[in-house]
Amino acid sequence: SLKTGIVGLPNVGKSTLFNAICENGKAQAANFPFCTIEPNVGIVAVPDPRLETLSNISKSKAIVPTSVEFVDIAGLVKGASKGEGLGNQFLANIRECDALAQVVRCFEDENVIHVAGKVDPVEDTDVINFELALSDITQIEKRLQRLEKGRAKTKEEIASNEVEKAALSRIVEALDQNIPARAVQLTEDESVLVKGLQLLTMKPMIYAANVNEADLADQGSSNAYVQALREKAAKESCDVIIVSAQVEAELRELDPVEAAEYLESLGASEGGLASLIRTAYRQLGLLTYFTTGVQETRAWTIRSGMTAPEAAGVIHSDFERGFIKAETVAYDDLISAGSLTQAKDNGRLRLEGKEYIVNEGDVMNFKFNV
Ligand code: GDP
Repeated sequence: SLKTGIVGLPNVGKSTLFNAICENGKAQAANFPFCTIEPNVGIVAVPDPRLETLSNISKSKAIVPTSVEFVDIAGLVKGASKGEGLGNQFLANIRECDALAQVVRCFEDENVIHVAGKVDPVEDTDVINFELALSDITQIEKRLQRLEKGRAKTKEEIASNEVEKAALSRIVEALDQNIPARAVQLTEDESVLVKGLQLLTMKPMIYAANVNEADLADQGSSNAYVQALREKAAKESCDVIIVSAQVEAELRELDPVEAAEYLESLGASEGGLASLIRTAYRQLGLLTYFTTGVQETRAWTIRSGMTAPEAAGVIHSDFERGFIKAETVAYDDLISAGSLTQAKDNGRLRLEGKEYIVNEGDVMNFKFNV
């Protein structure tokens, strides 16, 4: 599943948010085996109201949501990239993540000590980003040395090495100016060559602005810290989401109906977990398709652009290998038809072949040879 690392300075609300996410995730998926698997790793169900609607249509016995893994990466502090003490381990944990959520303190509370003495989202994020950038610069320098020393044999190798060197030099220049690798424009060829380095600042980063409950209604528009963070994020190709770790923690004490009422009373349309997951999905170019039947209704996560056989392969490699065709109906079409039979009668159920690119919300039934 998608793995999201939670990073940030000490005392900004990381553990509060992580614990709330895992507890709320468990509560929403009471019947599913999602849980905290290690003290700092939690797997949570991706909330998706479409599952319930689909399962009513199919009279399914079970609902299986897709899941996201969260890792609480505490301890990324000043000096981590120098590899002192546990620093290296933290960076290795980050390297394994698909996306990073950086919790940024945007709330005032004189009872909660700030490590730098004052609330300052711009400086706080600089501290964390600097450690990630230093690690990337070290990686890139090693790679550049290897490219210099290595004896490229063919003309193609020489040309490709030149392309890579040029791209890496541009990234280092950007990093020197506090600009992350993800904000550097690369050609498709360059992207492919650079990908192998798994640069930390290339990973999608979501700033989770941790605010007090009063800021939820207007999404932080009247909070100057959030404003400053949004301006900075735009330059770094980052998204900002608004959460209140404290509210998330309170939500976990409530049943789903009470929780929805509480959120509504705060003027918030959804909890922080849903918005975090939705943003990560979008940044990573992920989408959801469904399978549905009497046994179960289930959500599957794929990368956007995947063909029908590739999407089938997410369920089982046999489905991909023996793929013949896929009965496909768009979620909205199925809901307005009311049943698969009706959707077929309306001409909404399509037979798609090997070239078909799966769309968000497709409901699919694969036909395959074994
Ligand atoms: P971590 O070190 O980043 O994991 O931070 P913690 O989650 O342990 O939180 C540090 C302190 O800030 C705790 O005392 C929390 O109760 C408090 N805190 C976390 N989120 C909020 C928030 O949204 N508002 C307020 N007022 N306090 C918070």
